[in-house]
Amino acid sequence: MDIKVNGSQPSIIGSQDWFTGTVRIDSLFHGSEPARTGGGIVTFEPGARTAWHTHPLGQTLIITSGVGLVQREGGPIEEVHPGDIVWFEPGEKHWHGACATVAMTHIAIAESQDGSATDWLEHVSDEQYSMSAERQR
Ligand code: MN
Repeated sequence: MDIKVNGSQPSIIGSQDWFTGTVRIDSLFHGSEPARTGGGIVTFEPGARTAWHTHPLGQTLIITSGVGLVQREGGPIEEVHPGDIVWFEPGEKHWHGACATVAMTHIAIAESQDGSATDWLEHVSDEQYSMSAERQR
C-alpha cells in the first residue's frame, strides 16, 4: 500500500514543447508494473491547449471546472463543461485545452504502453485554435 500525502507532489509547468500557453500539471498517481494507469489534474489558462497528440491505449478526461475545447482530427472543435467526460480512442489524434476567455481544468487518465502514455505531434496553431472562436460567434 502507498499513500501519497496531499501536497507531497510538486506542481509542474507544462513544457512549451507539448503545450501552447500556460498549463499546470498536478500529478495524481502512476501505477507501477504491471499496473499501467496514470492520472493527473491539468489546468489550462485561457487560450492554453495541448499540442496534437495520440495515446496508445486511449485517454479519459473528466472536466472539473471552466470551459474547455476538444477536437479530434477531422472533427469539429467541441466545447466541454464541468461534469462532461471525454474518451479518446487509442491512436486517435486530438487536442484539448481551455477556451479563449475562460480557464479549464480536467482530470486526465491514461494507460502507458512501453512506458509511454502519449505520443506528441505538432502544435495547434493560432489559426486552428481561432476556428473555435469563429464557431461561437
Ligand atoms: Mn489527450
